[in-house]
Amino acid sequence: MRLFIAIDFHAEFRMKLVALRDELRMESMQGRFTPSENLHLTLAFLGECDDKQLGEAKSAMDRVEFKPFSIHIGRIDRFRRRGGDLWWAGVSENQPLTQLHAELTDNLREAGFQIEKRRFSPHITLGREIVTNASPRLIEKFGQTVESVKLMKSERIAGKMVYTSIYEKSSRSSSLLNQS
Ligand code: ATP
Ligand code: MG
Repeated sequence: MRLFIAIDFHAEFRMKLVALRDELRMESMQGRFTPSENLHLTLAFLGECDDKQLGEAKSAMDRVEFKPFSIHIGRIDRFRRRGGDLWWAGVSENQPLTQLHAELTDNLREAGFQIEKRRFSPHITLGREIVTNASPRLIEKFGQTVESVKLMKSERIAGKMVYTSIYEKSSRSSSLLNQS
């Protein structure tokens, strides 16, 4: 199974991302745009895993402790690609998110996963292979609270990418943390 760990979105936040995606679609000559239900923020890509690695991934998630925190979208931008760019919504600088990513990837590396060493640049892919005259831009900020991270299975079914949550690690409120 192909696995990754991601932040899933609330309905209202997802709708705002869909509006950004649709605006970009209107401005584009070509592209494969992310279906609403597939929008997510990847924290770690694990790739092909067996059952043992599945268990290790869950345990790496169990060992991160975080309190609920907010994420905000403040701009859209692109990664240049031959044949069409990948466009994304950028998550603003965020200490709790950076810390969560660092702890998670440390745990995963300890468990033997090869996690990419590139600096974490949190982004939400809105579409791929996009040809457009649009320019990267700042947008009116919107956000949501993050209460959990999810282990996602990625499959291609009848030509479509399908992501299914198979495990979830929840945050703890500070009052609960104080009790333990
Ligand atoms: P497709 O590859 O078919 O276009 P996808 O990229 O959405 O679809 P996956 O390749 O399964 O699906 O990737 C799942 C998530 O992990 C996506 O957010 C993707 O950007 C990210 N990802 C995939 N490969 C890597 C990688 N090598 N390094 C970092 N992140 C990755
Ligand atoms: Mg991919």
